[in-house]
Amino acid sequence: MARPRVVIFAPATDTHPELEAAGCDIVLGAASWADPTGDPQGKLVEMAAHAEALVGTSIKGSGINRDVMMASETLRIVAKYTVGVDEIDIDAATELGIVVTHAPTEANWGGVVESTMTYMLTMLKKTRERDTYLKTGGPWRHDDLIGTYVGRREDGYEGLTIGIIGVGRIGSRLSRFLSPWNVRMVGHDPYVSDEHFAALGIERVGLETLLRESDVVTLHVILTRETHHLIDAAALRLMKPGAIIINTSRGHAIDEPALIEALQQERIAGAALDVFEVEPLPADSPLRSMGDRVIITPHMAANNKGAGLKPGIVWGTADVLHALRGEVPEHVFNPEVLPRWRERFEGRSAF
Ligand code: NAD
Repeated sequence: MARPRVVIFAPATDTHPELEAAGCDIVLGAASWADPTGDPQGKLVEMAAHAEALVGTSIKGSGINRDVMMASETLRIVAKYTVGVDEIDIDAATELGIVVTHAPTEANWGGVVESTMTYMLTMLKKTRERDTYLKTGGPWRHDDLIGTYVGRREDGYEGLTIGIIGVGRIGSRLSRFLSPWNVRMVGHDPYVSDEHFAALGIERVGLETLLRESDVVTLHVILTRETHHLIDAAALRLMKPGAIIINTSRGHAIDEPALIEALQQERIAGAALDVFEVEPLPADSPLRSMGDRVIITPHMAANNKGAGLKPGIVWGTADVLHALRGEVPEHVFNPEVLPRWRERFEGRSAF
C-alpha cells in the first residue's frame, strides 16, 4: 500500500494520530501556533516535493504560492485549520487542479465578535484609563475619564453610528450583538444582498459614507486583492477625528504605516488591532508605544477556552483524508476547481 506524503506546513498539535493511523507519511513544518513564522519559501518548496496534501494553521512570512504547489505533480489538496486562506495562492491552486479547503467552524470565528465588543467598549468607556488613574495615585473622579454613551437615549442623544465593513459570518453576528444597544448600524459589503442587510437592521451605504459617518469603524472582510489596503491614507482622512477603528480581520486590510501616521497626527481617536501587516508584530513597531490610544492583541480574538483550533483540525484532517481517498472533501473554498479535480483524482485513492 502506498503511503501518501502529507506536509503539515504549520502544525497546531504535536501528534497527528488519524493521519498516522491512515498510513500517511508526515512532514512537519517550522511554524507553530505561538509563532506562525513558517519555513522560508525554498524550504517549503523542498518539503512539498512529491506531497499529496499540504495542511496547517496560519503561516506568516512565506506562503503556499504557485512554486510550492508546483513542487508536486501529485498534490491534491491544500487544507487550512482556520477561516482565512489568504496565505494560499487560490488562483494558482485552481489553475493547477488542486482543491483548497478551510475551516469556518464557529470556534474559529464566533469569539471574534465578543473580542470586537470588548475592544469597542474598553476604548469608549475609558476602562484602562480609569483603572490606571486610580492605581497610579489619582485621587478620585476626573473629567478626562468621562466615557462615551453608546446607544440612543431618551433625552434626545442619538447614540453612535457603528460602521461594519464586511457583513459575512462575523460582521453579521456583530450586528446581532449590537442591535439591543440601540445604535445606528451602517454597513458596506458589495457581495451581500439587500435582504440580508435589512434582516440585520444594517443600513447599506458606500464605503466613503461609512467612513465619514461612523464613530466606530470595524473591519470584518476576507483578505483579497480588492480588500488589500481597503483602508489606506485617503480612507483614513475621511474618518471623523473622534472615531476609532477596529481590525480583527487581516492586517493587510489596513495600510499600517498610514494608520500609524493618522494616530500620531491625532487625525483619528484610536485603533484596536488584533491583526497586523507583519506577524508577530515587530518589537520596534510604533504601535507598541502609543499608550491608551491603541489596543493591540496578538491575533487571538478568536481564541477562547474550549474553542480554538480543535474543531478546525478535525475538519482539516477529514478533508485531507477524503481527498487522499479520491473523494471530494466537504469544506471546499475554490469550488470552481471541482470538475478538473474530479477528472484528476475522483475514485483514485492515494493509499
Ligand atoms: P466571511 O467570508 O463570512 O465574511 C467576509 C465578508 O467580507 C463577506 O461577506 C464578503 O462579501 C466581504 N467582502 C469581500 N470583499 C469586500 C469588500 N471589498 N468590501 C466589503 N466587504 C467585502 O468571513 P468571516 O468568517 O466573517 O471572517 C472575516 C475576517 O475575519 C476574515 O478576514 C477572517 O480571516 C478573519 N478572522 C480573524 C480571526 C482572528 O482571530 N482575528 C478569526 C477568524 C476570522
